[in-house]
Amino acid sequence: MVSVTYESVEKRYGETLAVDNVDIDVEDGEFAVLLGPSGCGKTTTLRCLAGLTTPTAGSIYLGDYDVTDVHLKNRDIAMVFQNFALYPHMNVQENIGYPLKVAGQDEKTRNERAREVAEMVEIEELLDRDVDQLSGGQRQRVALARAMIRRPSVFLMDEPLASLDAKLKISMRSRIKVLQRELGITTLYVTHDQEEAMTLGDKLIIMDGGEIQQIGTPDDVYHEPNNQFVAGFIGSPSMNFIDVEWSDEQTIAHSGGISDFQAELDQTVAARYDEYDSFRLGIRPQYFAAHTTPTENAVPGRVRVTEPLGDEQLIDVVVGLADGESLDITAKIPNNITVSRNDDIWLSIQDALVHGFDIESGDRIE
Ligand code: ATP
Repeated sequence: MVSVTYESVEKRYGETLAVDNVDIDVEDGEFAVLLGPSGCGKTTTLRCLAGLTTPTAGSIYLGDYDVTDVHLKNRDIAMVFQNFALYPHMNVQENIGYPLKVAGQDEKTRNERAREVAEMVEIEELLDRDVDQLSGGQRQRVALARAMIRRPSVFLMDEPLASLDAKLKISMRSRIKVLQRELGITTLYVTHDQEEAMTLGDKLIIMDGGEIQQIGTPDDVYHEPNNQFVAGFIGSPSMNFIDVEWSDEQTIAHSGGISDFQAELDQTVAARYDEYDSFRLGIRPQYFAAHTTPTENAVPGRVRVTEPLGDEQLIDVVVGLADGESLDITAKIPNNITVSRNDDIWLSIQDALVHGFDIESGDRIE
């Protein structure tokens, strides 16, 4: 086991700055997840650690050892990718044992170790099968077992579950988590799926435009986002953002139509944000309450879309503002409230868990 450190790592491809001055610390045995939208630089960050590409600036360490210019064969790292390839002319046992064959181990040792790791991912009954007789999930487990067989110091995974169906994805997700815990191997995992990241990671590294936006536990990034990007990216469906201005009387003046939120908003945010003339308020969908009749401190709107989620439902509501503008709000509400498209509805803020952001920079304000 080793720690992983990126120090001011940069990777340029011509004009494209794929990774911009990145600093990351992953501790011994930690499960770190690189998360961000497509093209944000996650894969390139991982490839720099794997030795598949060389940073244009900065250094990468495994423990105290500077591996920036070390050949990938000498890094003691194993990788699993989305489009992992199994060797079609070998059966499952030979596929899993292959890294040990390359390392010069005898057949008996290879087969013993292959059985051991196959048991860990529960495919020991498949050892004699040809790989073209496996399901997608079984193939993925063979790939995992093959990556584990050498007991690498560091595990790298790039969207390893992307090609699996939703149900299999969830079961493989928990299997990966349990295995990582049992083996205690330092792991870096790339995904664009925030739910996958939240359930797997001890530490989330959120990237956008090649830059790190925030590093923290799933709780940190959800409850204390550094900026509007992180706040909007984490949580599904996304946080609602409403621009507000204080009037002279220290009540929220902007967004005439939402002045009905005023009494509650004033109490909730006045003390926190009264030094700002204007700011952007972030409210997660579950912090709205919906009423089917006019209710004090609730803003009237019209339901545009309803989406059942089992015990809950999502509603998209258009709130008309006094100045003729309208505001779209997504709320997550219990499904015992009966609403349909085009119904009138009244929304209030149910919880004081709102965030404020600087309109210009997007940074969260205290
Ligand atoms: P995705 O989730 O879509 O895989 P990503 O977050 O992993 O995206 P990267 O693949 O790291 O993003 O790409 C980051 C940026 O670098 C993108 O703008 C991409 O087009 C560019 N890039 C990546 N690899 C190369 C390359 N070999 N040559 C030129 N540009 C590249």
